[in-house]
Amino acid sequence: MTELEQQQRPDTAHVMIRCADLRRRFGEGAAAVDALAGVSLEFPRGELTAIVGPSGSGKSTLLHILAGLDRPTDGSVWIDGVEITALDDRALTNLRRDKLGFVFQFFNLVPVLTAEENLVLPVKIAGERPDSERVESLLETVGMTDRRTHRPSELSGGQQQRVSIARALVTRPAVVFADEPTGNLDSKSGSDVLGLLRRAVDEFDQTVVMVTHDPRIASYADRVIVLSDGVVTHDGRVQSADEVLALMQVE
Ligand code: ADP
Ligand code: MG
Repeated sequence: MTELEQQQRPDTAHVMIRCADLRRRFGEGAAAVDALAGVSLEFPRGELTAIVGPSGSGKSTLLHILAGLDRPTDGSVWIDGVEITALDDRALTNLRRDKLGFVFQFFNLVPVLTAEENLVLPVKIAGERPDSERVESLLETVGMTDRRTHRPSELSGGQQQRVSIARALVTRPAVVFADEPTGNLDSKSGSDVLGLLRRAVDEFDQTVVMVTHDPRIASYADRVIVLSDGVVTHDGRVQSADEVLALMQVE
């Protein structure tokens, strides 16, 4: 969006995710690790953000806390104006079910369910009937139509990842978090997955935050955040993969 367009659409500057001074300490005493050491961010609706940074810099920890899958040691998170860090587990589970989708680094598919059953699980959990057109189109987009009856153990890592991405998108959640969504995919499948996330943002005004190692993937984001030792060291727009690569090499 150009600056002029932004000015003409002030009502779209809706903050979907916000966190203030997030800290997360693992362990105690001399062995304690500060995975997050004070992170404050805002994510407007309808943007695709990439989070990059070296291994161990706190990317997964940040994503898990923003999605209410882990609780911070200190600090707060708001999703669409609701302070999720103040919710009890039950209220948090409901909010997650209604508003959030999550693509895990290691898929987290249910082993006894088929690809298609895994895909529609969030719809079933919400007590709704899957929209078969939507299911077909998602299976098609992630290239899993002919493997819909396979169980996770019968699928490659890349295929499992594609099912988990379709699962995160099936309810059209307002917010999608994805931890290395293209990490186990060849570059063609990686581009397809990125296209899915990009479309979620451009066509459905969803808000997507993804962690990635891949500068090329990150360069398709509206915004790139660099994490280093649990703090944000860069936050801004990027034009090219080379620019992202340079940012990643600064640390
Ligand atoms: P990244 O995703 O950027 O690779 P993580 O968020 O997974 O980094 O981890 C950040 C730091 O926190 C690392 O030092 C990691 O070892 C530590 N850490 C993450 N999860 C745990 C945990 N459950 N228990 C102990 N230490 C953890
Ligand atoms: Mg990680």
